[in-house]
Amino acid sequence: MPGKSSTIGNSHWSRRGFLKSTGIATTTTVLGIAPAWHLTYAAALTKAKREKLTPDDVIALMKKGNERFSRGKESPHDYLAQQKTSAKGQYPAAVILSCIDSRAPAETIMDLGIGDCFNARVAGNITNDDILGSMEFACKLAGAKVVLVMGHTACGAIKGAIDNAQLGNLTGLLAKIRPAVEATQYQGERSATNYGFVDAVARKNVELTMVDIHRRSPVLAELETSGAIKIAGAMYNLETGRVDFFA
Ligand SMILES: [Zn+2]
Repeated sequence: MPGKSSTIGNSHWSRRGFLKSTGIATTTTVLGIAPAWHLTYAAALTKAKREKLTPDDVIALMKKGNERFSRGKESPHDYLAQQKTSAKGQYPAAVILSCIDSRAPAETIMDLGIGDCFNARVAGNITNDDILGSMEFACKLAGAKVVLVMGHTACGAIKGAIDNAQLGNLTGLLAKIRPAVEATQYQGERSATNYGFVDAVARKNVELTMVDIHRRSPVLAELETSGAIKIAGAMYNLETGRVDFFA
């Protein structure tokens, strides 16, 4: 659909890449009229577009989206158009589990639009039965191809777990992060004021959450074994704006 309703769904999410897949983008770039990121994006991700993507393609596109964000070259989303085109159906490519931190909104920092991904947010991006059920819905029933667990630097929940903070229902949540605190190998001060340690625990917490997903969700584990999905981890750096994908 070159030149028409080109969205993150119809362009950035295209397997061949944005510049190659959208005629208008190539044309305008060649003519020097406007850089690709100045195009307007309209429609949401379609089923046909998503079906062409492999799990690795989806991860690559999220990386590219973060590159655009971190360079200040985000897509000029037409959210109303995305809202209208996705109202009758959604075909998200990924389900993201990330922290509630106000500075780490997954869609924004990976330059995603409405309908591009499911997003579960909970302090410290830990999992539980309800989140696992949500992920199983997202992948098995709704067709998402990537489960991304994304932690971030300077995470308050991680600091709270390190400090054994106690507060109402938060106590139980932080207990789920404690195994990551114990499992983190770190040379240096193991305290919540040492950001090197805090970030090392945050990364370990992502790794353990991924293990947890495998262990506690046969549905997702089987989808990954068959190659239908990929379970990936990432850390978002609040200072640099960059998402570091791993595993
Ligand atoms: Zn956090």
